[in-house]
Amino acid sequence: MDASADLRALPSVDQMLKAPDVLPLVEKHGRVVVTDELRATLAEIRAAVRGGRAMPDAGGIIASLLSRLAFRDRSNLRPLFNLTGTVLHTNLGRAILAEEAIAAAVDAMRNAAALEFDLETGRRGERDSHLRELLCELTGAEDATIVNNNAAAVLIALNAVGAGREAIVSRGELIEIGGAFRMPDIMQRAGVRLVEVGTTNRTHAKDYIGAIGPETALILKVHTSNYRIEGFTAEVQGRELATIARQAGVALLNDLGSGTLVDLSDFGLAREPTVREAVAEGADLVTFSGDKLLGGPQAGFIVGRKDLIARVNSNPLKRALRVDKIRIAAMAATLKLYRDPDRLATRLPTLRMLSRRQPEIRAQAERLAPYMAAILAPAHAVELCDCSSQIGSGALPVDTIPSAGLKLTAAGGTALEELAARLRSLPRPIIGRIQDGGLILDLRCLTDEAAFLESLAEGGADALA
Ligand SMILES: *Cc1c(COP(=O)(O)O)cnc(C)c1O
Repeated sequence: MDASADLRALPSVDQMLKAPDVLPLVEKHGRVVVTDELRATLAEIRAAVRGGRAMPDAGGIIASLLSRLAFRDRSNLRPLFNLTGTVLHTNLGRAILAEEAIAAAVDAMRNAAALEFDLETGRRGERDSHLRELLCELTGAEDATIVNNNAAAVLIALNAVGAGREAIVSRGELIEIGGAFRMPDIMQRAGVRLVEVGTTNRTHAKDYIGAIGPETALILKVHTSNYRIEGFTAEVQGRELATIARQAGVALLNDLGSGTLVDLSDFGLAREPTVREAVAEGADLVTFSGDKLLGGPQAGFIVGRKDLIARVNSNPLKRALRVDKIRIAAMAATLKLYRDPDRLATRLPTLRMLSRRQPEIRAQAERLAPYMAAILAPAHAVELCDCSSQIGSGALPVDTIPSAGLKLTAAGGTALEELAARLRSLPRPIIGRIQDGGLILDLRCLTDEAAFLESLAEGGADALA
């Protein structure tokens, strides 16, 4: 048959819409979408046939339609396997929530809740009340409030305490973290004038004292969360800064960044300053993230002096930076887990992953290696490897945690990049990191082995070879 006879035999969109194979698709995706994709499928086939390709049979047309519909349905936000070795990966969504937090969020999504409603009096209530008590209990602070993220916490705290006046910061602490958060820029937007003191590597108490004047509103201490200055260094600790601030009658703000509510050394990790310590040292306000080491949804906390928290809460920015009931519910459930530190490492995924030991991860790698090798052979070799995980999101930037995984290697110059790209395009993408001539899959964060193998197999040996 010639091409034009073939094309005349091609069914119309209307005929296709009534076909028994297509009806269930209409049921699932809706008439508009299926009509759209049918049109595109048939147009594609027409062009291919005119170009000399063979006419597909009915099954082939349906297969093309199905793959178009699947592609259209696919979300870039679909679940993936974070095997980068960075547990709190900002670009991969940071903390994975505890089951308790997920259940609370789902409940809040499905139902009305007394978000700003006092069930006792029947009057208007306060959004922050659901978290205030928990935060005070866990940090020892007098009062607490919550905003969209820690960047927002820093912004509003600076604005509420220091607008139009000066804030003193050590030159060693003028941080930039990812996503264009640079402390000098944030301070400018907050309407405070930055007064830099000390040098990059050394700042002394006298530097702060010498800079305090009638215009000074606050001293800002910033946790240098994503770098470390080593060698000939000096910094003024929080306790001494608190004394300096109190004597001068100015406020001390301490931006902890990640912040943690527990001593990480209890879980076999290096120590980070805890929020409770920063409060006890005498900081007037302490800011920290909800979705870094804390292991909850995205949020920023400000805890500290009651009068200053009241100023934050009455600041117009508060309304612009507030969080919704879903996150408040998830956060309250997350914070409640901290009331029982003994079970924290089993219930909070962030801590569970961070505290996994190398031998356990190595055993997992040994289990998976033969399956991986079978799927990836012969184009790629799979070997066990020891590697180093990191916490990520700017906590303990230099400390790494011994881990284990699988190293995939391939022959040829761009073969590794291509393999990485194919693993990214799987129905449930697998994200590793290229290092030492191999694609390393750090298994620290792999919990669902069956789903992992299934995803690989679904991707198909052909697609991966
Ligand atoms: C991460 C971080 C922030 C910003 O926190 P987000 O929750 O990402 O908004 C601010 N300050 C420091 C020191 C940080 O490490």
